[in-house]
Amino acid sequence: MYSQRLENLPPYLFARIDALKGQKRREGVDVIDLGVGDPDLPTPDHIVEAMIRAVKDPKNHHYPAYEGIAAYRDAVAAWYDNRFSVSLDPASEVVALMGSKDGIAHIPEAFVNPGDYVLVPDPGYPVYKTSTLFAEGKAHLMPLLEENNFLPVLEDIPAEVLKRSKLLFFNYPNNPTAAIAPERFFDEVVEFAREHDLVVVHDNAYSEITFDGYRAPSFLQADGAKEVGVEMHSLSKTYNMTGWRIGMAVGNPEILAGLGRVKSNVDSGVFDAVQEAAITALTGPQQCVADACAVYQERRDTLVKGLSELGYDVRAPKATFYVWMPVEDCMATATQFLNEAGIVVTPGVGFGESGDGYVRFAVTRSVERIEEAIERIGRLRR
Ligand SMILES: *Cc1c(COP(=O)(O)O)cnc(C)c1O
Repeated sequence: MYSQRLENLPPYLFARIDALKGQKRREGVDVIDLGVGDPDLPTPDHIVEAMIRAVKDPKNHHYPAYEGIAAYRDAVAAWYDNRFSVSLDPASEVVALMGSKDGIAHIPEAFVNPGDYVLVPDPGYPVYKTSTLFAEGKAHLMPLLEENNFLPVLEDIPAEVLKRSKLLFFNYPNNPTAAIAPERFFDEVVEFAREHDLVVVHDNAYSEITFDGYRAPSFLQADGAKEVGVEMHSLSKTYNMTGWRIGMAVGNPEILAGLGRVKSNVDSGVFDAVQEAAITALTGPQQCVADACAVYQERRDTLVKGLSELGYDVRAPKATFYVWMPVEDCMATATQFLNEAGIVVTPGVGFGESGDGYVRFAVTRSVERIEEAIERIGRLRR
């Protein structure tokens, strides 16, 4: 019944985990879900209030322009300038997205011919690979290994693959490894993309979720980045707005025009009221972002300290709300945690083969719940 394209998609491990979690809950287990990459904190009030005002305004009730309203694109450009000292032309170098997933899912359609390679980090956000498959491209997986600080080794990509490669995806601060990249790595990517004529797509969804004084860069800060690539960004993680579906693609105007041509045939833009609320988020008080990071940092510290005291080998990441922990067998650990402790973690192999041997904790639950989880893990027979 289903197309080959659909049949070719990898099995969705996360759907199975959801089913198992639901089953446990129905059995009456008090499940602690450290699996979901979705902030538990609410969207800040001033943003919600802006949305309420915008929803009531009839001018926002029509089809939006696919590229976003001018005021939203201005706000994105101003935010990039303030935050990263990156200057963008709002008219040609900013496109509104229904979350960065929208951009990631659609960009291969614009650049990849059947059989072309897309360079995809492994482990990684699953959409890099599935969007490649939807465009009938081939994913060449770039392993992110601890021994390389979870950075891909670009020199290891075979020449045969590079000859037919069109696009490179990468993502720092990284999901799921929580790794950060040194800025010189971004320069290396620019150089590599020039040499091999690649379109670079950097996914910067976690740039604002950082700790211990670390400030994550934008790919567009690298010299020449705007000649080779774009950055996908989003308000989802920064302002606890995952449900609102609002983000942006920024950078090279020609690449964005390609993405825009796909999008204009697929969706009809982001609801204007959501864009107005997003303007308030980007241009309003930013204390809410620092407050959220402080919350995640305390949870991270509680989790890492607790796991360390139990004898696990685990480090505190500088960014993202994830903790990536090596274990002997990730499926066995995740299964035991769920069945014997009622705790959901994500087995690393769900993010790709090179994620095998790790589990991912998301600190999207309260300190009290994380303490409870540590206590339960401490009672497990190991
Ligand atoms: C959450 C996430 C996204 C997408 O989030 P949107 O809500 O679509 O903006 C993109 N990339 C990574 C790595 C993520 O974790």
